[in-house]
Amino acid sequence: MSVRAAAGFALLGLLAASAQAAPAPAEGGGAVLAAACAGKDGWNDPAPPARIFGNVYYVGTCGIAALLVASPRGHILIDGATREAAPLVAANIRRLGFDPAAVRILLNSHAHADHAGGLAALKRLTGGRLVARAEAKTVLESGATDPADPQAGTIPDFPGVAVDRIVADGKAVRLGPLALTAVATPGHTAGGTSWRWRSCEQGTCRTLVYADSLTAVGPDSYRFRDHPALVAAFRSSFRRIAALPCDILVTPHPGASNLFERLAGRAPLADRGACAAYAAAAGRRLDERLAREASR
Ligand SMILES: [Zn+2]
Repeated sequence: MSVRAAAGFALLGLLAASAQAAPAPAEGGGAVLAAACAGKDGWNDPAPPARIFGNVYYVGTCGIAALLVASPRGHILIDGATREAAPLVAANIRRLGFDPAAVRILLNSHAHADHAGGLAALKRLTGGRLVARAEAKTVLESGATDPADPQAGTIPDFPGVAVDRIVADGKAVRLGPLALTAVATPGHTAGGTSWRWRSCEQGTCRTLVYADSLTAVGPDSYRFRDHPALVAAFRSSFRRIAALPCDILVTPHPGASNLFERLAGRAPLADRGACAAYAAAAGRRLDERLAREASR
């Protein structure tokens, strides 16, 4: 092959790669997503996909986030929504012009049915490998709620999914140009994990944080005040999220970070105080819960 032909092929490869990384958005983006989900936050309410920023796309439902972080060397999918919504997530990946089979890695925020229930089906469909923190492995693989989880017995189990690789707190999951760092945020579940990474759009680079649920939820019969180690884990997670570099916050329940309004342009997408505010609000709710328990 001549040098020129080789260069031509390289250029074609580059064009194909950039097309794969950032397809022309066939879908209408954030405003269409916000309109489609107005008044809806059901776990399985179908939502159109939308670009969030750069190579990061919303592929979840109206009530449950799933994110595709795309690259020419394959994609990373964060969260699988519910078992019922897994086909919607796959369809959204296709609607954006991406091939689900190019998803090489699956990640999770926390191992509850609404965020991990679709992972088994999406893993089969994509052929990707599931990477998780060691503390999440048992529940992800069994699909059965941890008996120590405050919500044990009140939330459904989900299809178990094999964990292929463990990532330690503070370490990055890498794929081609992608590097997503695991941030241990236990509390809501023991294996709860937030993810942070950099993405760029038209020369502007931002730190994105997919901050896990920080809510202290449990039936009235559960008393957080009887579980000081769990309360300490929550408080440590609040501090970690508050201290993260954080330009764009996304949360597993999109409403918890006002995501659709921000994608529709009705609130700023980037807000450096968003992670700190999210953590502070969770801290206030935990304090209120502890105060209620103390007054019973
Ligand atoms: Zn949960």
